[in-house]
Amino acid sequence: MKYIGAHVSAAGGADQAVQRAVEIGANAFALFTKNQRQWKGKPLTDKAIEAFKAACRQHGFGPEQILPHDSYLINLGHPEAEGLEKSRAAFLDEMQRCEQLGLTLLNFHPGSHLNKISEADCLKRIAESVNEALVHTQGVTAVIENTAGQGTNLGWHFEHLAEIIRHVDDKSRVGVCIDTCHAFAAGYDLRTAEATQATLNELGSIVGFEYLRGMHLNDAKSAFASRVDRHHSLGKGNIGLPAFTTIMQDARIDGIPMILETVEPDIWPEEISWLRTQAEEAAPGK
Ligand SMILES: [Zn+2]
Ligand SMILES: [Zn+2]
Repeated sequence: MKYIGAHVSAAGGADQAVQRAVEIGANAFALFTKNQRQWKGKPLTDKAIEAFKAACRQHGFGPEQILPHDSYLINLGHPEAEGLEKSRAAFLDEMQRCEQLGLTLLNFHPGSHLNKISEADCLKRIAESVNEALVHTQGVTAVIENTAGQGTNLGWHFEHLAEIIRHVDDKSRVGVCIDTCHAFAAGYDLRTAEATQATLNELGSIVGFEYLRGMHLNDAKSAFASRVDRHHSLGKGNIGLPAFTTIMQDARIDGIPMILETVEPDIWPEEISWLRTQAEEAAPGK
């Protein structure tokens, strides 16, 4: 089963995100559980938590279909003590919000070395940050997103993701989310079905599909291997449609949230239904 949706707004409460997902014909969605550009969010009230859970029950969304995303400010590999502490506290808060909402995944960007520590030290630091958050929470998996490699961001090589996982103590609660735009900008070719298959095989051998807990389906305005992160609507960018057909038809990618972060929310319903037809062609009657 392919769970397909988009990163919807949670303005007005997390329960509103569920409504918005329903309106675009999604059976998966992503959301921020607090303002993604601020360090601190208001604590979730019991009422807000209940409203979210009721909406999920009503519309048949299980936690495996929902991929919350953490704040953009957090840097779990921060080279300096103060920034690291602040990031770790904010990340723990995000994990706890997921726990409260009954969610089991939290998607995050690994972190940046800011040219102050080595890549290896930064990756280890990210893993230690994850370890700390996992010790203080239950039932939520930390899902590392691959990046485009802009600036000093790590996580653009599949090897970076594997290295972080290697240092995480509880392997059952760490995973990865692959963003197609980021992978393409980082130098993983997706321009043909064959190239996409090769990139997926590389992901399988370096990270392993058992760690794949989500995907972000985005075309790219940015050029191949440009290390620039600019999303586009499916088929309108430098990746093109064959990659998305290949991904939708790959049986190794099943039962995880597949989330559009494309730039025209107005056409999300069309993008979702097109993706669904691609998946159905691979598995008639399923
Ligand atoms: Zn992201
Ligand atoms: Zn993404």
